[in-house]
Amino acid sequence: MECDECRGKMTREKVEFKVYGLPVGKYDAWVCQKCNQTLFSEEVAEQIDQAAKEKGLWGLESRTKVAQTGDSLTIRVNKKLARFLDLRKGEEVTLVPESKSKVMIIR
Ligand SMILES: [Zn+2]
Repeated sequence: MECDECRGKMTREKVEFKVYGLPVGKYDAWVCQKCNQTLFSEEVAEQIDQAAKEKGLWGLESRTKVAQTGDSLTIRVNKKLARFLDLRKGEEVTLVPESKSKVMIIR
């Protein structure tokens, strides 16, 4: 099989699939030896989705509104995401901007 991006050679490999940085499992994929493009069959992609859902690694993205509390701005973290991050009320965290549109929460 040939890579449709760079025409490199694609080989069969077991690839560790991660969601939100956590391993979901190892799955059969075609991997380009030149550009590293990884392709999963439709069947395998469905298995990955299913496994990710079972591990709760699914749909943690959410929209939220920026509110104002005194001089500060407040961003709500919903229950599902808070549980995943193991964030607790009263806990102190550090906010570190990665860019103009991305911020990290570090503890
Ligand atoms: Zn390639």
